[in-house]
Amino acid sequence: MHILDFTDRKALITGAASGIGAAGARLLANGGAATLILTDRDADALDAFDPGCSVVRIAGDVADPGHWDEVAPHLDGLDHAIVNAGIAAGGAIGETGFAEWRRVLGTNLDGAFLTLSTALPLMREGGSVVLTASVSGIKAEPGTAAYGCSKAGLIHLARVAAKEAAPRRIRVNAIAPGGVDTPIWDQTPFFRDLVAEHGGARTAALDAMAAMATPLGRYASADEIAAQVGFLLSDMAATITGAVLVSDGGYSL
Ligand code: NAD
Repeated sequence: MHILDFTDRKALITGAASGIGAAGARLLANGGAATLILTDRDADALDAFDPGCSVVRIAGDVADPGHWDEVAPHLDGLDHAIVNAGIAAGGAIGETGFAEWRRVLGTNLDGAFLTLSTALPLMREGGSVVLTASVSGIKAEPGTAAYGCSKAGLIHLARVAAKEAAPRRIRVNAIAPGGVDTPIWDQTPFFRDLVAEHGGARTAALDAMAAMATPLGRYASADEIAAQVGFLLSDMAATITGAVLVSDGGYSL
């Protein structure tokens, strides 16, 4: 038996075509999941992705209520959701346009609200949800107003949802990763600004410098974060709800 047992479970994953979402889909498939409902705005990447179990792929924008009209009919009896689609963007206050602020909040926070609004009423009693927040939602850093506020909002959304869903024994938790080596990493304000300050090209030396900003001296891999998401989703975390698992190598200490 896989240590994280998802035998016969049905799960929704947003932002499933890449990075943490794709790693989460593979983890659930390896753990015996019966059906995964995978959504992403990148239709080609979603089509090409095969986690190794039965899947329903629905391309669309998490921030579009119409997308959720299309997804909802597939969610009846849902066991788990990984609310994960997100973008890293924005800059310093005064330099970030309102449209950019709205774009980040729209995807990361409105998208999560719409995901929960659709998935929670259709989830079976005893189900579980994990939202992918970020250490930027906890630790204030220059250049992260939009991204950080979207993730701080996501953490509070998880806590409110946890309390609302508890009478149905549904658990809702958040994970707050630090740097994770995925395609989004070099767009995060911290690393983007570091690269800009050192000539504008990503190098191994800059990767090492960024990693050294964490006490453990390393990034996480998508698979490591997915395993921690899997723990929170699984029955091993049966008494954990409304929690934020900070997985940042000590960056926020
Ligand atoms: P990623 O870019 O590999 O994956 C994100 C996926 O979300 C992509 O497939 C993308 O197409 C999809 N997506 C983006 N906007 C969307 C939208 N509006 N509608 C539907 N799909 C959309 O990056 P990742 O690192 O795997 O990111 C997953 C989550 O982890 C994000 O919420 C991100 O903020 C969070 N996170 C990442 C890091 C990091 O360093 N990589 C750190 C902390 C938190």
